[in-house]
Amino acid sequence: MPLYEYYCPRCETRFELLRPMSRSDDPAACPNGHDRAQRVLSVFSAVSKGAGGETASIGGGSACNTCTSSSCSTCSLV
Ligand SMILES: [Zn+2]
Repeated sequence: MPLYEYYCPRCETRFELLRPMSRSDDPAACPNGHDRAQRVLSVFSAVSKGAGGETASIGGGSACNTCTSSSCSTCSLV
């Protein structure tokens, strides 16, 4: 059985649980008895990679802080 990591927002506890893959996305009970703990996705690195890529493309597209088109009156001052 695979080991999954869960996070309980009520007591802010992370814990691991052995579960069948078919139930990996079900809400889990944390060690303190709360039953709405959410699975912590192990694909976190992939998510942050995607977000970082978007941020990089937005930030790299314009040096201006007030627009995204690089063609406002403030852009020429940057
Ligand atoms: Zn809890």
